[in-house]
Amino acid sequence: MGKIENEGLSRRGFIAGVAGAGAAALTWSPAYAVPAGSAATTLAAPPSFPAGISLYQQAYENWAKEIHVDGVWTCAPATANDVVTIANWARAQGWKVRPRGAMHNWSPLTIVKGSDVSKVLLVDTTKSLTAITVNAGSSPATVTAQAGATMEAILAALQAQNLGLVSVPAIGNLTLGGALAIDAHGAALPKTGETQISGTTYGSLSNLVTSLTAVVWSAAQNQYVLKTFSRADADIKAFLTHLGRAFVTSATLQAGANYRLRCQSWYNIPTAELFGPPGTSGRTFSSYVASAGRVEAIWFPFTDTPWLKVWTPTPSKPLFSRQVSSPYNYSFSDQVSDDFEEFLSQLAVGNTSGTPSFGGLQLFIVQSGIVFTGTWDIWGWSKDLLLYVRPTTLRVSEGGMAILTSRSNVQRVLSEFATWFKARLAAYQAQGKFPVNGPVEIRCSGLDRASDVKVASSGTPQLSALRPRPDHPEWDTAVWIDVLTIAGTPDSITFYREMEQWMLGNYTGSYAAVRPEWSKGWGYSATAGWSDPTLVGTTYPNALRTGQPAGDNWDTARATLNAYDPHRIFSNSFLDTLLP
Ligand SMILES: Cc1cc2nc3c(=O)[nH]c(=O)nc-3n(C[C@H](O)[C@H](O)[C@H](O)COP(=O)(O)OP(=O)(O)OC[C@H]3O[C@@H](n4cnc5c(N)ncnc54)[C@H](O)[C@@H]3O)c2cc1C
Repeated sequence: MGKIENEGLSRRGFIAGVAGAGAAALTWSPAYAVPAGSAATTLAAPPSFPAGISLYQQAYENWAKEIHVDGVWTCAPATANDVVTIANWARAQGWKVRPRGAMHNWSPLTIVKGSDVSKVLLVDTTKSLTAITVNAGSSPATVTAQAGATMEAILAALQAQNLGLVSVPAIGNLTLGGALAIDAHGAALPKTGETQISGTTYGSLSNLVTSLTAVVWSAAQNQYVLKTFSRADADIKAFLTHLGRAFVTSATLQAGANYRLRCQSWYNIPTAELFGPPGTSGRTFSSYVASAGRVEAIWFPFTDTPWLKVWTPTPSKPLFSRQVSSPYNYSFSDQVSDDFEEFLSQLAVGNTSGTPSFGGLQLFIVQSGIVFTGTWDIWGWSKDLLLYVRPTTLRVSEGGMAILTSRSNVQRVLSEFATWFKARLAAYQAQGKFPVNGPVEIRCSGLDRASDVKVASSGTPQLSALRPRPDHPEWDTAVWIDVLTIAGTPDSITFYREMEQWMLGNYTGSYAAVRPEWSKGWGYSATAGWSDPTLVGTTYPNALRTGQPAGDNWDTARATLNAYDPHRIFSNSFLDTLLP
């Protein structure tokens, strides 16, 4: 029997959201592992578990700590064939298998809050399924990585071969398997007149996949097996973004020539100007999209000058830019300030009245942090500019949507949102309520264009929020709007539901359409996210049916995933509702 790692079961270091009362509860806590056979284990052991595969009980905790389970049975396969063995074991024993990456998701795609986990086996890919091979000489250049490899490691391997990506999630500590499951993306649009780097996409990572290997049911062999799908295979379109209804062991992604980026930060543009009505002049969000393409606004509540990051492809170092040679340059945003302590402890007892000053404090930390770290204008390789969030940042809830529209409508989308958001926060404030204490995060990306794929291809990911709408070829942009608040903040669910309903009613017709950001908060009922039956069962499936060809849409993906996992071992109760 191995030794107990980290903490024993009696020490429960995980406290959900504000229940933890204090900054420490909102940062990363290492999960402990208790080996199979230990006296401390709580659930009955998986029966007849295959010998030779590392098995233990470990806490599962999602990003915002809203889903937390002590001691779920977890295993760490050494090879893809081990995953096949696990799948066949699970089928025989009636267990569910949940692939587990960095656990940085919000939505209940891995484990459902409050569900019975007595027959759930988490499969941790981060321990051994981490190999990465760059194929710089192939055309297009590609990288093949196992599902547990992190985005940071993949980007580092690409950079070593002078290769890079364009649409990259901000946090490097994500696994490839987790990122593909939910069509991960970055802030990625071309500036006006930009020539796209061949091999890249402004859409999702899923749209870069040239082939992938998954564990699937073979009727012929009457067992689960490994199957490699090429991008030309029509069935791959269900696996490119699958929301957790499959187990991917590795994938090959195309890449492009690496490039240099400059990132400039501003925090002096009033929201009335940045999010002004379409057609207004000045420093509007759209003006930065035109001049640089890649823009992010972080707008703290009850403040009026968001932190604006603008990334411009810039081959040579501008005179006054500071060269950086590693990622995560905004260290001030990767730690929970001691100054948060008072607000968090008040929040823990339900007192939100300090929210306006908390918003101001967050902006102050950014403003002073940028000056202190000298990061208002930095320049370097793409990876070092595109990765800028560490897991030590404040752990909060996020409700978020992608609004598909045309590039010429970006300013309209944001101006309407900003007007609505300000009015709603003021209305809540007038009632003494403060549902939102974190920032609004705004980014734009392109869509998953079929023409980005440089190998024979059957088409685009069927479940990706960035799937183009053939009936609206002018929609070439997704505006991602996320609102952050500490989990458990009073009235936050009411606010999120109101926001989602407003978005669905406002961004419609020939102007725009709403899709969920699968990894985050959506589907709000009066009491919880991911739980409104109409949104989960009809509205969002329709968002990937409407305008899509028969035989190549949401229903096709559902049928394909079901056919490759007829025993539903790769599912949970939420996925059984979303993708029955
Ligand atoms: C601070 C922060 C910043 C973020 N920034 C961005 C961003 O900029 N852009 C963006 O798009 N997203 C972003 N995300 C969201 C993130 O991309 C997703 O939550 C992603 O799914 C997390 O990956 P993970 O490795 O943590 O996966 P997990 O949370 O462990 O799993 C997520 C889902 O993927 C499934 N999964 C994991 N591995 C596999 C596999 N091998 N095969 C099949 N399914 C698998 C899981 O079962 C689950 O359904 C951010 C998240 C955080 C916490």
